[in-house]
Amino acid sequence: MSDIVLDSKSFQSVVNKISREISDNNKNISEVAIIGIQNKGVFLAKRILAEIAKLVGIGKSRIPFGTLDITLYRDDLDNLGSKMPVIKDTVIPFDTSRKNIILIDDVLYTGRTVRAALDVLMDFGRPKSIQLAVLIDRGFRELPIEAKYVGIMYQSKELIKIECKETDGVDRVTFIK
Ligand code: 5GP
Ligand code: MG
Repeated sequence: MSDIVLDSKSFQSVVNKISREISDNNKNISEVAIIGIQNKGVFLAKRILAEIAKLVGIGKSRIPFGTLDITLYRDDLDNLGSKMPVIKDTVIPFDTSRKNIILIDDVLYTGRTVRAALDVLMDFGRPKSIQLAVLIDRGFRELPIEAKYVGIMYQSKELIKIECKETDGVDRVTFIK
């Protein structure tokens, strides 16, 4: 059985809500930069960037954009089931210092991916702030990491399926029981 958590309409309104909150909290748009975590976090980040640019009334290219590719791998030595984040690729073509970086991912769960992302970002310089935005907060954190902007909370030990127009032809979030 599966439950639709977000259909295409509510998916878009959640993206718009996050974008509004980010722009309300960051009045100086020249200090804002956006970084998406591969794979779906990047598509979300691009949409949020476009929405913020529209809200503020500037061109999309005025907001610096980057991507991080962090994949979770099962550690063979770890019987507890936790996965280890491995950094595969980093594309940050701007100076992160003195920027308010909005880090965007699709799902926040244990917090290990975000922790790895913070490590990478701190190696790049000294941003003014790093603010985390996620579409779904799945709960069950293993590290003291929380998102500032949360689309929806959906506490679940089971995987949540995220589809988005760019990769799947439709915007949808489904909980599979
Ligand atoms: P964490 O590192 O917080 O345990 O997991 C977050 C990362 O794993 C995110 O990059 C996200 O893409 C992926 N992830 C974790 N849980 C889910 C889930 O339920 N569904 C999907 N689609 N991805 C998940
Ligand atoms: Mg991911």
